[in-house]
Amino acid sequence: MPPIRRLTVLSGPSGVGKSTVVAELRRSHPEVWLSVSVTTRKPRPGETHGVEYFFTTDDEFDRLIESDDLLEWAEFAGNRYGTPRGPVMERLAAGAPTLLEIDLQGARQVRDTMPGALLVFLTPPSWAELERRLRGRGTEPPEVIARRLEAAHVELAAEKEFDVTLVNTSVNEVCHRLIALMTAHPSD
Ligand code: ADP
Ligand code: 5GP
Repeated sequence: MPPIRRLTVLSGPSGVGKSTVVAELRRSHPEVWLSVSVTTRKPRPGETHGVEYFFTTDDEFDRLIESDDLLEWAEFAGNRYGTPRGPVMERLAAGAPTLLEIDLQGARQVRDTMPGALLVFLTPPSWAELERRLRGRGTEPPEVIARRLEAAHVELAAEKEFDVTLVNTSVNEVCHRLIALMTAHPSD
């Protein structure tokens, strides 16, 4: 397999299946390094500190912003999320495969600060399917689901800002395409 050179950003509306794709990539392609974000959100059942996220307080998040330790950060549906800068820069300097799973606001920041990053947008097969997935996950109360669906309208409208769109019909297919994009030559 050729080396994976790109910094790749995976974005898309809440409930589209980003975490599911990332979990499958961890399993099938352990050579792809996934940035672990910091968040002020509370862990969902089954989430482990240091695996899905570093769960933190508002005060600690403020401190990370002040000390410029975040490559990008955003507030999303009432919580803050950010990418620790140091580990990403170390991986890129070492030429290691690097993937960020972040929201639209974060993707825009990376587009502006990291030229050459590949921005991939994950989209649902339909709006009805997105709603079904978000409600079916059963991890948020109705008012949080409503906020996330509101944000999803904004995110879906930004699809054209991305380099590539992948439709999440099959998780395996999305992983396959994502790996193909990451292994393509940056000037392709
Ligand atoms: P996100 O991280 O984008 O918010 P999740 O990965 O949590 O979304 O997925 C939301 C729900 O949709 C989960 O219940 C997940 O099992 C389901 N899901 C993800 N991908 C697919 C798919 N390709 N087909 C059917 N269901 C899916
Ligand atoms: P969730 O709460 O469902 O895990 O994530 C909510 C949103 O935050 C998703 O769109 C996810 O991609 C985004 N997100 C996760 N980590 C980061 C991050 O480090 N930065 C930004 N900007 N968004 C993130």
